[in-house]
Amino acid sequence: MNSDTLLAVSASELAERIAALGEKRFRVAQILEHIYKHRVTDPALMSNLPAALREKLAGKFPAGEADRAVSEDGTTKLLLELADGAGIEMVLIPSLSRMTFCLSTQVGCPVGCRFCASGALGLERNLTAAEILAELFIGASLHGGWPDNIVFMGIGEGLLNPAGLFTALEFMTGSEYIGMSPRRITVSTSGIVPGIRRLAGLGREYNLAISLHAPDDATRAKIIPDKIRYPISEIMAAADFYRETAGRMVTLEYTLLDGVNDSVPAARALAVIALKHHCKVNLIGHNPSGTGFKRPPAAVIERFLHILELEKVQATLRLEKGGDSAAACGQLRLKSKVLRRK
Ligand code: SF4
Repeated sequence: MNSDTLLAVSASELAERIAALGEKRFRVAQILEHIYKHRVTDPALMSNLPAALREKLAGKFPAGEADRAVSEDGTTKLLLELADGAGIEMVLIPSLSRMTFCLSTQVGCPVGCRFCASGALGLERNLTAAEILAELFIGASLHGGWPDNIVFMGIGEGLLNPAGLFTALEFMTGSEYIGMSPRRITVSTSGIVPGIRRLAGLGREYNLAISLHAPDDATRAKIIPDKIRYPISEIMAAADFYRETAGRMVTLEYTLLDGVNDSVPAARALAVIALKHHCKVNLIGHNPSGTGFKRPPAAVIERFLHILELEKVQATLRLEKGGDSAAACGQLRLKSKVLRRK
């Protein structure tokens, strides 16, 4: 077989390849079961396949672990090296009862949010579906099983890589593959309007999280550069479309930045948007990452949350995990000297 990896090869494509090799069709089900039920991706370990077929299927796994940072709270960030030497990150986030994996969708990111270490390097390239799945498999191997939840909140803007992201989602949720519930998968976006509408068009119940970070376009422009920033009105219209089409309540992510978007009027304006568009709000206490932005004092964060609650907005507060290690977004990759960088 002329393929680097069996990851992200669909059942029908695999059937064609198996037929071309003169093998019986039932081998397809055997191979898919090895990969997606038992997480065995190396054909050499697929013991119920004939040795000759195992040899023909031999390929290269698309990623390997290059570095690791473990925080006191148990958050584990992995730096992965891809076949071309590029580096991406994935994070395992344990809580009392659940394991969440945070996955990347691109090498670098074109959006360039000013508080984000990943955006500082710009976009190098999109990840393939196989590379996105490789993150999941490497995390699962460390964890000893599939995660309870997957969030696409790592490096990159997933909705600017629909080919890679949407194909990977198919393999995560398809019943002949991993078969996870779409409700356990959250796609995060900086507000890519066409991408939100395309995601809605998939007709699956994925959770959608929109990184709003500001209640008005002028404040948002201080945080997200102009080149890939849509007006809030268009973003919220797309959010309405998503809720109506996918039947899922949309979450607004709001990273609190000291003196930028943490005022009382900002909290009230955010409450108006959230109530009008039936969104939940997830406040995030910024994890300083050397980009000049600071986390607001605890009292300011509490006041912001309190205002949302007074307005009857469904709101939660998350202080970024892993602050005691290189585990803030993009920092492991920035720290790395071993991986190629353009
Ligand atoms: S916060 Fe997300 S969208 Fe913004 S630059 Fe960083 S990775 Fe890209």
